[in-house]
Amino acid sequence: MPRYEYRCRTCGDTFELSRPMAESSAPASCPAGHDDTVKLLSAVAVGGSASAGAAPAGGGGGGGCCGGGCCG
Ligand SMILES: [Zn+2]
Repeated sequence: MPRYEYRCRTCGDTFELSRPMAESSAPASCPAGHDDTVKLLSAVAVGGSASAGAAPAGGGGGGGCCGGGCCG
């Protein structure tokens, strides 16, 4: 079941709910009981992922083409 992230506009808290996709936009109450919440975008789509460690592989070593000068 997908997880969705919501933010409470009353207390500013963020929380996640696991709910069916069909209910992703249904009203959600924050853990404190407030119901003035907004659904955030998917956690994988937002947030500065630049610092997430997944550096591209490669860049030297066994590369045949770009190490040999045929690329530039
Ligand atoms: Zn709240």
